[in-house]
Amino acid sequence: MKKYSLALHGGAGTILKNQMNPDLEEQYKKALNEALKCGLDILDKGGSALHAVEEVVVTLEDCPLFNAGKGSVFTHEGHHEMDAAIMCGTDLNAGAVCLVRRIKNPVRLAKLVMDSSPHVLLAGPGAEAFARSHGMEWIDEKYFFTEQRFNQLQNALEENKISLDHDHSSERKFGTVGAVAFDTQGQLAAATSTGGMTNKRWGRIGDSPIPGAGTYANNESCAVSCTGTGELFMRSVAAFQVHALMKYAGLNLFEACYKVVHEILPSIEGDGGLIAIDNKGEICLDFNTEGMYRAFGNSDGTIGIEIYQR
Ligand code: ASP
Repeated sequence: MKKYSLALHGGAGTILKNQMNPDLEEQYKKALNEALKCGLDILDKGGSALHAVEEVVVTLEDCPLFNAGKGSVFTHEGHHEMDAAIMCGTDLNAGAVCLVRRIKNPVRLAKLVMDSSPHVLLAGPGAEAFARSHGMEWIDEKYFFTEQRFNQLQNALEENKISLDHDHSSERKFGTVGAVAFDTQGQLAAATSTGGMTNKRWGRIGDSPIPGAGTYANNESCAVSCTGTGELFMRSVAAFQVHALMKYAGLNLFEACYKVVHEILPSIEGDGGLIAIDNKGEICLDFNTEGMYRAFGNSDGTIGIEIYQR
């Protein structure tokens, strides 16, 4: 039987069991399980890693529990500005969008940028015009309104702070989403999608849509999707670092992820985590926060859905 594997995340941060209510925990697990099954079905039928990560991220974007697509956080001005990227490990092709407001599934637009433009990253109104010129619908901004997110913005405005989803002071209930996959052809792919940070302004963009920072895939080594304090992940070129440590320093997947998550990022106060798969299908889910919404599965039938530290 040919091997495949898949991992996904729904954000990392201050996620503590004693602060979680059982119903909500159940909702998270259900949502993670649904996204996992969607990706594993694709891989099981021989579908590509690229297709699997796109569909997994769409499933998570459509779920209001996570800070991406439907559940995106509010900007300072009361909008939603979403970032997403997708990358193929076979040819290092990548597509990304940032600051889009009217696209239901930003990861689909990132894939369109990759497939149908000579560019890698399109921003804001330009990205939306590109979407429309390729027949992708714009959606009313009201679609992205959730009461929970609106209240988070009011709190952030009162405290005059820009907050990550899982900051101590925020309601820490949602998170950026991402997926990595290894398919039966031995190909790797990664995708990440986010609403960014509550109360962000001035066109702030995080690591998620930046190839090498929040998202990276290369069949020579691994596929990586990150979540956490975006500025620090950009400064550490976190996703590419995992690849570089494997390729140039000879570390294995687990050693490389450990170094990035527990040494390089903390050295500049970077909080968060990442999911990664290597070109043998090994899966690593690592984080330096209290928790990370995550799930994984492979062709052996191994499946895991976890939230807290072990
Ligand atoms: N990394 C994302 C950003 O900085 C946020 C997150 O992962 O929750 O936009």
